[in-house]
Amino acid sequence: MADIEGNVRRVLEAAAEAAMRSGRQPEDVTVLAATKMNGPEEIGRAISAGIRAVGENRVQELLEKQQMGSYRDARVDFIGTLQKNKVRQIVGRVALIQSAGSREVLEEISRRSAAAGLRQDVLLEINIGREPQKAGFLPEESDEAAAMCSEMPGVRLCGLMTIPPKTDDPAEYFARMQKLFVDLQQKKYDNSNIRFLSMGMSADFAAAIRAGANIVRIGTGIFGPRASAPT
Ligand SMILES: *Cc1c(COP(=O)(O)O)cnc(C)c1O
Repeated sequence: MADIEGNVRRVLEAAAEAAMRSGRQPEDVTVLAATKMNGPEEIGRAISAGIRAVGENRVQELLEKQQMGSYRDARVDFIGTLQKNKVRQIVGRVALIQSAGSREVLEEISRRSAAAGLRQDVLLEINIGREPQKAGFLPEESDEAAAMCSEMPGVRLCGLMTIPPKTDDPAEYFARMQKLFVDLQQKKYDNSNIRFLSMGMSADFAAAIRAGANIVRIGTGIFGPRASAPT
């Protein structure tokens, strides 16, 4: 069984060090536990060990665990590929939808949350490696998507998220994301509060933090290997 407590301690320490090395404080960086395929007991152990935010990939799994109280008082984000027909089920139930990856999904989020009298915080998912099989906006579409969000009554754009291509050295992708993020912040879109850059996973979170990430999403580095990996 994984040493979840030890893993959380090591990840939090490494994240804090990377934050300090890039001129920020440890509390400026959120270490989010990617909890897919882990149950209430594992999630509870991670939270007891100091995790304050979790991310789930599948709507059904999120709703079930939420109903069971698995997340306790941790903040819950949605980080998986989001289908339009599932939007209704999570709007207003998560702090942040990190994976808004198309105009259609954004429109549906806005429609459903405005109808509920809410404004849902979202990140734009960016397909920074331009991988054909991957969800998300292309980097050059981020301005248009941000402008679109600023016109939507049920959405508040809060930043960017990415899953870079599998490579030994994602630094170049992280740097490109940081540039996009800073550009977006400077444009001061209406109704937005662009403050989150979510990138970096178990294998590369320290490099991501050094490149400006302030949310890192850690699965195996906390919970150990998964039986199989859903996307
Ligand atoms: C599973 C997952 C992670 C965590 O991946 P690890 O390599 O296990 O740390 C991060 N982000 C997303 C979107 C994921 O689905």
